[in-house]
Amino acid sequence: FWPAVCYCAHCQRRFAEEVGGELPRVIHWEDPRWVAFQRKREEWLAEFAAYMTSAVKRIKPQITVEHQASTYPLNWRFGVTAKLVPQNDFLQGDFYGDALQGSFVRKLFYNLSPHLPYGFETSSAVSLNNHTALKPIELLRAKAHACLADGGAFVFIDAIDPVGTLNPMVYERMGKVFAETQIYEPYLGGELCQDVAIYLSLESKFDPADNGKAVDDPQLSSKTPHIEAAVSACKALLDAHIPYGVVTRRNLKELSRHQILILPNLLMMDEEEAEAFRAYVRAGGIVYASGVTSLVTTDGVRHGDFLLGDLFGVTYLGETAEAFTYIAPAVGAEKLFPEHSSKYPLGLPNKQMIVRARPGTEILGWMVLPYTDPADPTRYASIHSNPPGLPTENPGVVLNHFGAGKALYVTTDLERYDTCHNTFIALIRNLAKPFSFEADAPKAVEVTVFKQEDKGRYLVSLINFQKELPNIPVEGIRLRLRMDGKDVKRVLILPAERELDYRQVQGYVEFTAPKLETFAMFAVEYI
Ligand SMILES: [Zn+2]
Repeated sequence: FWPAVCYCAHCQRRFAEEVGGELPRVIHWEDPRWVAFQRKREEWLAEFAAYMTSAVKRIKPQITVEHQASTYPLNWRFGVTAKLVPQNDFLQGDFYGDALQGSFVRKLFYNLSPHLPYGFETSSAVSLNNHTALKPIELLRAKAHACLADGGAFVFIDAIDPVGTLNPMVYERMGKVFAETQIYEPYLGGELCQDVAIYLSLESKFDPADNGKAVDDPQLSSKTPHIEAAVSACKALLDAHIPYGVVTRRNLKELSRHQILILPNLLMMDEEEAEAFRAYVRAGGIVYASGVTSLVTTDGVRHGDFLLGDLFGVTYLGETAEAFTYIAPAVGAEKLFPEHSSKYPLGLPNKQMIVRARPGTEILGWMVLPYTDPADPTRYASIHSNPPGLPTENPGVVLNHFGAGKALYVTTDLERYDTCHNTFIALIRNLAKPFSFEADAPKAVEVTVFKQEDKGRYLVSLINFQKELPNIPVEGIRLRLRMDGKDVKRVLILPAERELDYRQVQGYVEFTAPKLETFAMFAVEYI
């Protein structure tokens, strides 16, 4: 991968030949020349990967090849997009973040990897810089089992001492963890339940705030608003135990697997994506979209209106000057804004698109502005805060029926902020039919379900991954799994295959998990 933007003579010459002119040195995501440079970087990187992969396969055709995949969620500088994927037999990458990051990237790899299982790696040491401080076994156990719950292959990294010897303690610790996970391996496989899909645009990994700044400006933004919105949406769905997945343009032909598709402030989009989203909704799918989604195309052209204006049921008019805004519930839509009202609307730490709703749409929320622009230090209503003061006639949330499906458009990246998650989940639940499973569990517990039709069962995993380890065990987690007309034969706790009590209620099977330490797996067998 490319951690830096290269201006060497070779890159200069190639750009001059393929695009023409000098390499641009000012970032601007609405400047087609800058964006053409970025697209070339992505293309050249994929070409280099193809050169490497084919060289290896020429010598040893049976070998599997993977290129470091931890870069897919990283910013544009690394130049990694879906173009790189075909050069891998499977995706594998190393990650050092929390339970949320792991869950997010594994859902991404599940749908992006050419073959399964994908690999999810982390170091056995606390960091790659420190050769001797090992991660506590509780942390390695949680990471390895979380990977198991997502159907991935867990890989641990040992930064081997250059003297050539191994630290036996590393292998004893990992051996213990693998002894615990391997007893579940015979049960793995099937298709992940992902009722809600979060769409990740690998062309949108930048911050428009950098527009106009030099490539080597030390003040460049460290944010990637689209990725942050996608990861935050994932957090909201995880906390609510709603089955979710992460998809990219490689999944455009299989969108119908999902009940709801989330387009979290896609900073760029092309016609192929737009048409796939339209077709998905026309056939009965549901889209939630926010912010600038479909206003700027992947060639760096900002359009006068949304590419998907017909789908969203809105026309673009502009953007608010205020970077702190509010949305108030429309009359009749109050239940979608828990804790908020027209007097106390939902606060959003970002600007909003000003749109006009097209005929036939339903407005669920209205834009409200603070009394004064928070950026203007000479005028204020309250010295420390920006209270809501000016109701507008601009929609904030619009619902549009389109073909057999519907689209909900929100004028800002509401899903990106923890403080808006209650509203985000209420909006999602309001759009959806019942999900494939529900769980009454604390937020630290994630539930995943794989359908194994060939074996006549669902595989249900619970992973308890608390911020402070070792985990405090959780008792009495209630699970409900939608059976879609199937009759339950047995509910088993694995790998003991001991039967658990269950109830069948209104098309669901319900059961209570025994005390959960870190991990539990169940098979729900049906006829
Ligand atoms: Zn170069």
